[in-house]
Amino acid sequence: MKISELLKHKRTLSFEIFPPKREDDTLTLIQSTIAKMDALNPDFISVTYGALGNTLSNTVDIAKHIKENTKAQPLAHLTCVSSTRQDIDRVCDRLQQSGIENILTLRGDIPQNVDAPLFSDFKHASDLSSYIHATRPGQFMTAGACYPEIHPQAGSMKEDIENLKIKQDAGMEFFTTQLFFDNQVFYQFLMAARKAGVTIPIIPGIMPVTNYNQLDRMIQITRCMVPIKLRNYFDRYKDDKEALQEIGLIFTSYQILDLMAHDVDGIHIYSMNKSGFIAKLMGNVEYVASRFFAPGE
Ligand code: FAD
Repeated sequence: MKISELLKHKRTLSFEIFPPKREDDTLTLIQSTIAKMDALNPDFISVTYGALGNTLSNTVDIAKHIKENTKAQPLAHLTCVSSTRQDIDRVCDRLQQSGIENILTLRGDIPQNVDAPLFSDFKHASDLSSYIHATRPGQFMTAGACYPEIHPQAGSMKEDIENLKIKQDAGMEFFTTQLFFDNQVFYQFLMAARKAGVTIPIIPGIMPVTNYNQLDRMIQITRCMVPIKLRNYFDRYKDDKEALQEIGLIFTSYQILDLMAHDVDGIHIYSMNKSGFIAKLMGNVEYVASRFFAPGE
């Protein structure tokens, strides 16, 4: 089923997972993570993809496993930063053969440590989405990424949001946001996007942070704002693993409750493959979530 069809009737709950790096872990570990996540009734589970295509077969295999073994729809990420049309055709053939209908079309990050210039037939995620729809009409639903705190390469928020319109016109049917910690930033971005004519669902992406290095890494990658309270808690309990777990859990629970109270289009959680933590998180918001995700609400 296409996720865009689901979004016409309900707000979606979704989790992002990534293929494990160690080959021998790949399927068994992630299969047990997926089974635990399926018990939380997500509408879809998205599977990341290495920018250079180096997790290609894992991404497709894991998406296929989700399709065959869970109630959730798989959303396969696909990047084009170093792909030819033939590369994309090959991946799409595999997705089609596996019965996967949903693709998160992305450009991907240009890797820092690659010597030779990258060759790609696609400049932007919008080119990838247009290509998929032109070559396989009706076969796939495509979605894309958006950035409440501006994509680092965009000249301004206005320009970044205008580019979202291009992505929408290229056939993308919903956006998932980059992670953020300050909901006000998201609400302002949402208003600006709607004003600029972006009409498709925009699903906030939330990452629970539970350790100091992870928080710093996320700030470096996304340049996201961190509310002073969260920063103070993290500074105070810097070396106390248990305390940081509790703070991360409570902060993210509150963040999700606030988003649900603002009637957002869905909730997407960057799970980092931590099914136990995600189960606790969903347990914390169980009653409100049961109403929020009910069809027709
Ligand atoms: P684009 O949409 O191409 O945007 C990149 C820049 O170009 C932006 O500044 C934008 O404003 C501008 N732009 C966009 N379209 C146009 C246009 N038509 N003309 C001119 N300018 C334009 N990376 C991975 O490697 N693997 C993953 O699985 C992955 N999953 C992700 C999931 C989510 C939800 C998010 C938010 C990010 C993910 N990323 C992933 C990271 C992402 O690939 C990077 O952020 C990358 O730098 C940009 O990708 P994009 O698809 O947003 O690119």
